[in-house]
Amino acid sequence: MEQSIFEKILVGEIRSEIIYEDDFVFAINDINPVARIHILIIPKKRIDTLNQMNEEDTTLLGRMVLVAKNLAKEQKIDDTGYRILLNTNSDAGQTIYHIHLHLIGGEELKGI
Ligand code: 5GP
Repeated sequence: MEQSIFEKILVGEIRSEIIYEDDFVFAINDINPVARIHILIIPKKRIDTLNQMNEEDTTLLGRMVLVAKNLAKEQKIDDTGYRILLNTNSDAGQTIYHIHLHLIGGEELKGI
C-alpha cells in the first residue's frame, strides 16, 4: 500500500513542521487552514478511516483527544473555545485516508 501523505510527512519525504510528537501521535499545522488555528493530530499507526478502528485503538484515540486538548491550551484557545472533528469517508469530505483529528479555533466558528 502506498504511504499516506501523513506517513510521508513523518519520515520527512514531504516537508511540514511537526509541532508536537510523542511515541504514538504527531501534529502539524493544516496546509489550508479554515480558521486562525487549524492543527491536525495524527496517529503514527496508519488507520485508514474510523471504520477500521478496533478495541485496541481506544487508548490511541483517547491520546489524540488529549493531545488536541493540550495543544488548544498551548495555543491559548482553551477558554475561547475550539472544535475537534474527524471526517470519515466521502460524504464527510475525508481526503486523506489516514485518520486525523482537526483542531480548529482562534475565532468564532460557524456551522455545526
Ligand atoms: P480530511 O479532509 O481528510 O479530513 O483532512 C485532510 C487535511 O489535510 C485537509 O484539511 C488538508 O488541507 C490537509 N493537508 C493535505 N495535504 C497536506 C500537506 O501536505 N500538509 C499539511 N500540513 N496538510 C495537508
